[in-house]
Amino acid sequence: MITYKSKREIERMRSAGQVIAKVFDLVGDLVRPGITTGEIDAKVEEFICSEGGTPSFKGYHGFPGSICASVNDEIVHGIPSDRELADGDLFTIDVGVIIRGYHGDAARSFPVGAVSADVARLAAATAEALNDGIQACRPGNRLSDIARAVEARGRGDGYGIVKQYVGHGIGTDLHEEPQVPNYVSDSLLKSDLVLKRGLVIAIEPMFNLGTGETRTLDDEWTVVTKDGKCSAHFEDTVAITDDGPEIMTRPIDRQDLRIWSVSA
Ligand code: MG
Repeated sequence: MITYKSKREIERMRSAGQVIAKVFDLVGDLVRPGITTGEIDAKVEEFICSEGGTPSFKGYHGFPGSICASVNDEIVHGIPSDRELADGDLFTIDVGVIIRGYHGDAARSFPVGAVSADVARLAAATAEALNDGIQACRPGNRLSDIARAVEARGRGDGYGIVKQYVGHGIGTDLHEEPQVPNYVSDSLLKSDLVLKRGLVIAIEPMFNLGTGETRTLDDEWTVVTKDGKCSAHFEDTVAITDDGPEIMTRPIDRQDLRIWSVSA
């Protein structure tokens, strides 16, 4: 069932979103060679709780962390651990927060030290694909308009688009209907939802340097690229309003924020 949120509910959802926006500022300051993904997880959890929120992921289907921490060829669902980040790594944090009964969900890929030009371009393209998808979030457009915008960016730049994992509706549940794929398919076109005011969705392109194929590690969580090449992931929670998209998980005064930048 698809739920449409009232103005009042969207206001409440903003609370979780704004905590996540601040988490990304925190993580941007923390990420450096030598820090472990477990240390980042602990700091983020502490911060979320200090803001009056609860990490949505911790215990979700038994997931052990407050964040998903995925490095290089890890696409999504990496488990925080004593792994140290190294110069040249691409570190992806995916994080959910629930506050006042509503979830927010977002992800960013961060460079650790100096990343290669290939990896920097991959991350920049994935961030731009998210922005393209968000721009399609207008009443009267369809889900396929979001998918087409994301897919066009990935294909245009020659990246593998992960199809097995998709975006989703979000609200009082972390994962609600509809699914929000990053590519256009016959099945999407068959049931192509018209976007309406009050729909709140998480859009989350995952692009790979190689093919879009995935496999899951023996820990039964970590999803990696089949060919071992690098993957990037960006996600925001977006509310559709009469005025267009409102990005819940970016600062209210920095909605057009460039969410990826590398100093060359
Ligand atoms: Mg998500």
